[in-house]
Amino acid sequence: MFFLLFGMRTKDDLLDTRVLTCEVCGWTAPQARFARTTRFTLFFVPLFPVAPRKYLLRCGHCMSLRQIKPLPAYA
Ligand SMILES: [Zn+2]
Repeated sequence: MFFLLFGMRTKDDLLDTRVLTCEVCGWTAPQARFARTTRFTLFFVPLFPVAPRKYLLRCGHCMSLRQIKPLPAYA
């Protein structure tokens, strides 16, 4: 008998962290920028991406997560 194990895996890669003012809570706190990639897996081995890469910003104060543009022009 042969089983074919396949599925999806989502991984967040931390790109950088900067101190900015949060758009949700209004506090000045560290904002971590992530790149989220979802890949097709075969036998738990990630093979190829199945969705476009998303860029996310997480507030260190309120932990809100919001999607941002691929190359944000924030300083
Ligand atoms: Zn916040």
